[in-house]
Amino acid sequence: MILSLKQIRPQVFHIECASRRELGMLFLRYTEFYESKYDHIRGQRFTLVEQQQVYCREHLGSADANWTYTTDWSGYNIPARTIDEVHSLGIPDPNHYDSLMAGIYGMIKAEALGKEAYLIGTTKGCPVETLRHELTHALFCLNQDYRGDASAIIHSCGVLGHLCQILFDGNYPDKVHTDEINAYLTTGDAFFNVSDYEFLQHTEAYKMTKAALVELHQKYFMEFMA
Ligand SMILES: [Zn+2]
Repeated sequence: MILSLKQIRPQVFHIECASRRELGMLFLRYTEFYESKYDHIRGQRFTLVEQQQVYCREHLGSADANWTYTTDWSGYNIPARTIDEVHSLGIPDPNHYDSLMAGIYGMIKAEALGKEAYLIGTTKGCPVETLRHELTHALFCLNQDYRGDASAIIHSCGVLGHLCQILFDGNYPDKVHTDEINAYLTTGDAFFNVSDYEFLQHTEAYKMTKAALVELHQKYFMEFMA
């Protein structure tokens, strides 16, 4: 497979793959361990067959659905330590992507020099919004001041319940809702434009929250990328 790994910002590592399928297969086990919506997957030992079963049955709505995980998602983001957590717990059905991730973690650890590291993944030549979205997750994780300020804005948002429901329906567990609301509202919020919620983006509460997050993001993201 064709893949590149580089340190794109201090403590932030970026994997680029030529193919969306290869990228998805590489991140699948680690992203699902970190942020699966399902309690028997997130933070647990699980097989990829178990992930496929629940993803098809619950997220795609039928046990017989085609498993489209790798085409459904265009970018990935995890704290790098997730790789170590998965391997420490033991993988019941390892494959060559797991060997590759173990090697990648070794390289990240050597470069990060004991500091917390974040890993993002996109395809080569992806839209700039996709890369900004994943980098915003890295900034949110690594910068405590930014995370605190953004979280305060989000938690006082008048339509927070609706945003969380859309994220939950869209396969995101509670633990990443604040992080995802921040990333989507600052880098492209088409995700929240879903049927039954067309009214949402026209509410004052939504517009005010988005404007406040965008202003905050501009300041921190510019420094982050400088
Ligand atoms: Zn995201």
